Amino acid sequence: RLAGGFAELGSVFHTRLPAQALPDPYLVCASEDALRDCGFAPDAASDPAFVQRFAGAGAPPAADGTVDLPFASVYSGHQFGNWAGQLGDGRAVSLGELTAPDGRRLEVQLKGSGMTPYSRMGDGRAVLRSSIREFLCSEAMDALGIPTTRALCVIGSDLPVRRETLETAAIVTRYAPSLVRFGHFEHFWSTGQHDALRQLADHVIARAYPELRDAPNPYLALLRAVSVKTADLIARWQAVGFCHGVMNTDNMSILGLTIDYGPFGFLDGFDAKHICNHTDQQGRYSYQNQPQVAHWNLFCLAQALLPLIAAPRAGDAQPDADSDAARASIEQTKAALEPFKPRYAEQFAGLMRAKLGLTTVAADDTALIDRLLQLMHANRADFTLTFRRLANISVDAATAIDTDNATDNATDNATDNATGHATDDAADGVDRAAARDLFLDRAGFDAWLTDYRARLAREGRDDATRRAAMHRVNPRFVLRNHLAEVAIRAARDKDFSETRRLLAVLRRPFDEQPENAAYAALPPDWATSLEVSCSS
Ligand code: AMP
Ligand code: MG
Ligand code: MG
Repeated sequence: RLAGGFAELGSVFHTRLPAQALPDPYLVCASEDALRDCGFAPDAASDPAFVQRFAGAGAPPAADGTVDLPFASVYSGHQFGNWAGQLGDGRAVSLGELTAPDGRRLEVQLKGSGMTPYSRMGDGRAVLRSSIREFLCSEAMDALGIPTTRALCVIGSDLPVRRETLETAAIVTRYAPSLVRFGHFEHFWSTGQHDALRQLADHVIARAYPELRDAPNPYLALLRAVSVKTADLIARWQAVGFCHGVMNTDNMSILGLTIDYGPFGFLDGFDAKHICNHTDQQGRYSYQNQPQVAHWNLFCLAQALLPLIAAPRAGDAQPDADSDAARASIEQTKAALEPFKPRYAEQFAGLMRAKLGLTTVAADDTALIDRLLQLMHANRADFTLTFRRLANISVDAATAIDTDNATDNATDNATDNATGHATDDAADGVDRAAARDLFLDRAGFDAWLTDYRARLAREGRDDATRRAAMHRVNPRFVLRNHLAEVAIRAARDKDFSETRRLLAVLRRPFDEQPENAAYAALPPDWATSLEVSCSS
């Protein structure tokens, strides 16, 4: 039984309505780890009643005969930099909350469950393609240690859904301690509903930031805390080459989770200006813009919280617009957003240092990191493989595995064979190939490598220890577009085995998994024509 939480907030926050169940539903895939996280048995998804439930068929009435209707919440937001007015859960309903075995309260939401009062021009549905992408990426991000909404399962149906072409419907079930977005706050700010705004902020504080309740100004403290969490999140995205694609304020989680997987993408060949969303012609949400956009979005949240920051206790009157008190609140609010940039920079630098296997901090690290990223950009070097393979270089003279021997002008394969070590494609499937192979500008890479080796030598860690540490932070497997595409094409033919296999691979992204070397490979030529857009 699911009750409590956001559902208990008043009717200005949501509309209660039943889900529109998918006809003749079938299980596409369930995440065993997510099932366990929520307290389900590992085989729970094989129960037809489970499939019905997460296809949107109603919950059985409680013992007292009552039925909890799901709800769709209302929010607003800025889309592509413009105020979009009222939005809301246009194709999602929350079933309510469950209590996980560890005591966490988790809101469980069906996405693709039919029209709601917030559907606008949409049909309330989600297609199989985008549902599989959201499902796999949520679980992949979690395994990468990146805060995210989780995904329990994807349920499919033959129900036709029209997008650019005719597709079929699916529902992905996602969950998180809270699904509140910046846009929820903007909604109650823009409509001048300050009591609801306060109720919402108090709910979020109670739920996710209880330590802020007794702060001198809890709402200012909330803004600061969300700002820190958001900076940390974006640093993690950047460090793994993740592009969200639609960083509208209605897609920003108040908990600092990755939320709303649409036209996202992981970088293959590194292009700092990469735009993963085909619809985003200006590149507002390009890879390199993500930190700045997050900061911009925090200003929207700040504006929405301003009435609470200016009148922190219930019953406080709003200061007059031109008063010193009003100006002081604005200054405080702006000051709360100041730490975002240094926080982001510090987190990103820390993650990059770890990616390079550095345990100490040196003055020239930033330059070393920047030079590598510039080289990667200029050479379109594969983001994931570059870092994974950098672990293979050796610093101690005694180590034989040194596929990045800069003085060797012969092919790296010959080097590998000469030293008896297999390359990526070899039978053992272990990636001992050279990072250098990913750079056309060998001389440029070698010059960087000389400095990198010198920097590593100052650390004094042995190669094996450093290699193992680097492998723990540089994934071998990420959800590249072409991998999702292969799984989706099979799923359209009702073959879900590839989705399930891919999920298993992505749940262990740092493990070598030699038997799955193909999933770590560069994208095939056909993948260059793949496009993802907001249409989902
Ligand atoms: P997004 O760009 O995915 O964040 O969606 C923006 C808004 O459009 C959200 O309020 C969604 O709920 C809504 N939306 C997107 N697709 C649909 C759809 N097929 N039917 C109804 N609403 C939708
Ligand atoms: Mg959205
Ligand atoms: Mg979306």
